Amino acid sequence: MQPQIVLLKEGTDTSQGKPQLVSNINACQSIVDAVRTTLGPRGMDKLIVDSQGKATISNDGATIMKLLDIIHPAAKTLVDIAKSQDAEVGDGTTSVVLLAGEFLKQVKPFVEEGVHPRVIIKAIRKALQLCMEKINDMAVQIVEQSKEEQRALLEKCAATAMSSKLIHQQKDFFSKIVVDAVLSLDELLPLNMIGIKKVTGGSLEESQLVSGVAFKKTFSYAGFEMAPKGYDNCKIALLNIELELKAERDNAEIRVDNVKEYQKVVDVEWQILYNKLAKIHESGANVVLSKLPIGDVATQYFADRDIFCAGRVPEEDLKRTMKACGGAVMTTANDINASVLGLCEHFEERQVGGERFNLFQGCPNAKTSTLILRGGAEQFLEETERSLHDAIMIVRRTIKHDSVVAGGGAIEMELSKLLRDYSRTIAGKEQLLIAAIAKGLEIIPRQLCDNAGFDATNILNKLRQKHAQGGQWYGVDITKEDISDNYEQCVWEPSIIKINALTAAAEAACMVLSVDETIKSPKAGEAPMAGGGMGMGRGMGRPM
Ligand code: ADP
Ligand code: MG
Repeated sequence: MQPQIVLLKEGTDTSQGKPQLVSNINACQSIVDAVRTTLGPRGMDKLIVDSQGKATISNDGATIMKLLDIIHPAAKTLVDIAKSQDAEVGDGTTSVVLLAGEFLKQVKPFVEEGVHPRVIIKAIRKALQLCMEKINDMAVQIVEQSKEEQRALLEKCAATAMSSKLIHQQKDFFSKIVVDAVLSLDELLPLNMIGIKKVTGGSLEESQLVSGVAFKKTFSYAGFEMAPKGYDNCKIALLNIELELKAERDNAEIRVDNVKEYQKVVDVEWQILYNKLAKIHESGANVVLSKLPIGDVATQYFADRDIFCAGRVPEEDLKRTMKACGGAVMTTANDINASVLGLCEHFEERQVGGERFNLFQGCPNAKTSTLILRGGAEQFLEETERSLHDAIMIVRRTIKHDSVVAGGGAIEMELSKLLRDYSRTIAGKEQLLIAAIAKGLEIIPRQLCDNAGFDATNILNKLRQKHAQGGQWYGVDITKEDISDNYEQCVWEPSIIKINALTAAAEAACMVLSVDETIKSPKAGEAPMAGGGMGMGRGMGRPM
């Protein structure tokens, strides 16, 4: 008798070969179907309710993919590329997923017919290389422009990024704000120096950009009414010190046997607090911000001395204030002096909707700004924030990497034409494969049409014809149900989005294709369904 060779733990699920590959491709397909309809200016939004019942409305590919909680191992690669696109360029997250899915869909028949995945991968790599060369070739460089021209260009890119979002009605308003915000940064363009604060209520147009730091007024104790509400040229003390009479900690114990002794303890406590407050006052600060609470005694003390104070300031706001205004966050009151204080030209407390905001303007050190968003429902504001994030990322990217291409499927159609022309010059399987990828690229204009309710076949035919005649920037015209020169229409996108999206999509497709076996271990702590042996074993341990 042949002895049975046991390689893997019981309950391990293995599947391999062609069927496995096809099933992985199918899994990716179903994910693509989930985000397909969100692409483009006429795309729809998704409402996703998570296990805690929190509802999110979003049009952003990366957000949707993150929330979908996908467990299929192959399909997870699509989630990863959407996330990486989000981190790398910030926009084009739906496109990247669609492209990867479509490449896989187009090569699936070849897999089924038994073409070796390596051959397919090679063809995809070749196609990608051709596309990269073409994009770099076509991209319009924006060099040596005047400030106004650069602004106009950035606003157009921001507007294109926002035109597919919930806030597309207000995109002109917001693209100005976004460009202002990004241009106010220093040349490294650090993203965390743009704060976004949301205040529900009011209309979107009431949103405003504050150059400087702004944060919501923190919880305040009695006495704050007397505190001053504005200063010019103020000095800011940034603290991580508790300015409150503390409740006894449970690990401290003091035994006293008469009232006098008790009074001494209380007096010392007050003295400690007053010493700290005096040190802060001596330093010459007019504004005191602390991460930890500032109690009512301290609030009153400061108010009497014409000092503004706010406790429990969120850490990120405190850090941003520190970066913008200079100074250092102090953890003891002993070494506070003028050299650790931050400076700003103007401080005020201002009412925004139902909230009070502390604003610091004219900060000497870093360039920073804060967007205060107004609008209806919470979810709406959250989606607005995500859309603005996309636009901000795009503007930053465009400043750093200043070349643009036309969107609306124009660049994809041109690449598709390039690949098709190339495929005609070569022989063998590769010819068909490259042509398949050329077809895959058409998914972007096709989906833009489908989502807008246009006749996709008709428009794609027109586009193919135009591109064959040399109209390289022709793409879908979303307003007229036709095609148009999207470069002239100012549907511009930084070329880096497309470069990144194509590279990531091709990589993901190759990765899915190169996997021909999945080996899944039984989940830890879970009895396998098949092979009851282990399940029995657990029961045996119990005392009978
Ligand atoms: P993504 O997450 O990939 O950025 P979007 O939903 O933002 O997805 O859609 C982006 C697509 O919409 C891009 O292909 C872009 O070229 C296209 N697009 C954006 N604005 C317009 C417009 N005004 N006309 C035509 N196409 C547009
Ligand atoms: Mg977008």
